[in-house]
Amino acid sequence: MDQSIKAYIKQLVQEAVEQSASSLNNLPPSTDRKQYIIANWKMNKNIQDTLEFLQQLKEGNGVEVVVCPPAPLLYPAKLYVQGQNKKIHIGAQNVHQEDKGAYTGETAASLLKDIGCSHCIIGHSERRQYAHEDDAIVNLKAKQALKRGLTPIICIGETLEQKQQNQTEKVLTKQILGAMDGIDVPQVVFAYEPVWAIGTGESATAEEAQRIHAYIRSVLDYLDEHNAEKVSILYGGSVNENNAQEFASMTDIDGVLVGGASLKVDSFQKIIAVFAKGA
Ligand code: PEP
Repeated sequence: MDQSIKAYIKQLVQEAVEQSASSLNNLPPSTDRKQYIIANWKMNKNIQDTLEFLQQLKEGNGVEVVVCPPAPLLYPAKLYVQGQNKKIHIGAQNVHQEDKGAYTGETAASLLKDIGCSHCIIGHSERRQYAHEDDAIVNLKAKQALKRGLTPIICIGETLEQKQQNQTEKVLTKQILGAMDGIDVPQVVFAYEPVWAIGTGESATAEEAQRIHAYIRSVLDYLDEHNAEKVSILYGGSVNENNAQEFASMTDIDGVLVGGASLKVDSFQKIIAVFAKGA
């Protein structure tokens, strides 16, 4: 596409986002958005750890709890919570964008659905970094997840360098527009995960996260002014039992995606309890 047309479209989007941001500020916050607490175990835990954790974990009490173990543990985890009749969702950490076929080592959305998964994390920064997933792949994966009845949890976030260069909003806008091409806004969950805050012990402040969440909602409002208020936007990045309350008190923070602190059931349960109080 011609560079001047590209620049013009960019300008239009920016103006529309700014306009909807100011109009959204006047709207009362939605109180009926789902609150999510998501455990991203990454490449940690074995089958015994998993079953012990799930045995101790209590239901969300008004918040949606999603545990995302490594792929081989998804089915035993699902069987276990089902057998215990616990309302705990099991989610995948990744999915392949194709329906099926010669993709060695990959997992199809239909299989995830078949074994009882309800959610799928898509576009985590570690996958963007190590598996080189870009916004176009994230978009295809989200479409594939939706096609098979999984709720995509789309991760977006800026690197430290991008933050220092005041590029955060620009990066997030590009990630959102890329991920959402051809997707209906109310079908997805977003997780704002600043890359510099993941696994570093240095979380965003709750105020900083709230400001960015409101911005993300304004971009969603640009895409669909009737439904942006319905989308749950989670914060992720060094959340723990001590800082969860600050995030929970923010209007546009509808839960958290937790890595390190989700590995210990006591810590994770305390984070759930913080959000369940307000649910
Ligand atoms: C994550 O892996 O998405 C994450 C937020 O990790 P941590 O909570 O450890 O920063």
